[in-house]
Amino acid sequence: MVRAEPPAPPPAGVEVSAPCWNCRKPVAPRDTRCASCGRARTHALLVCTEPCLELRHGPGPPLRLGRHPDWAPRTAAAFDGWNKVSRRHASITVEPDGTAWVEEPEEGTRNGTYLNGARIAAGVRTPVRDGDQLRLGLRVSFAVRLYGPGPGTG
Ligand SMILES: [Zn+2]
Repeated sequence: MVRAEPPAPPPAGVEVSAPCWNCRKPVAPRDTRCASCGRARTHALLVCTEPCLELRHGPGPPLRLGRHPDWAPRTAAAFDGWNKVSRRHASITVEPDGTAWVEEPEEGTRNGTYLNGARIAAGVRTPVRDGDQLRLGLRVSFAVRLYGPGPGTG
């Protein structure tokens, strides 16, 4: 029986790089941006198990969650048939400093958006923190992880 050896620790003085969330190329810990694709290290990771969906999103235009193929192109296919998710349900914005916000459109949604079980108000930017649970309606739930501009994770 062969036992796998644990990975050797890196030699002293060698920087360990974490992969870029966007292109998966290594990013040195001192870098706040990926040298390959130019994206900031800062990003949010949203993981939903049903439907199976993993979204990574950095600073810039909002990430839209919904069933409308033009308004929410990154989630429309995954939420096809999930009628409790509105066509325009909610947007996630990530700021360069690593803070993140969720907002429902002004007109609101039929089944609501919940942050850690509390329904958010339509048309109001609500802060999202690392480890929060974001729910669209009753059944679709995302675990939210936030990665700031500092070194390490991703
Ligand atoms: Zn990259």
